Amino acid sequence: MILEEKFSNFNVLTWFITSKCNFNCHYCFATSETRSKLKEKPEISLVDIERGFDSFKDNWIIHITGGEPFIKRDFIPICDIISKNSLLSINTNGCILINV
Ligand code: SF4
Repeated sequence: MILEEKFSNFNVLTWFITSKCNFNCHYCFATSETRSKLKEKPEISLVDIERGFDSFKDNWIIHITGGEPFIKRDFIPICDIISKNSLLSINTNGCILINV
């Protein structure tokens, strides 16, 4: 699921990169009906992600949320791809420690 909005001089794209999370908060959007619908969708490949974000040049902020983004397979390579051309922000619960 992707949302776009204008933010000052930047375009902001919010990417719900995964509905999976290491928590199961009762109030969570990601645990709602939306989550089960998202689970049915196949994961996008790194090649397709790179192809998609290649057209994003200046003035883009890519905001990644979930679920817990750090659970997503290949999350760090995905961040590398996005940050080549865009500013990157990540919404995380901060409870998964990995080398970033
Ligand atoms: S995404 Fe956030 S609110 Fe939802 S279950 Fe995970 S930690 Fe809780």
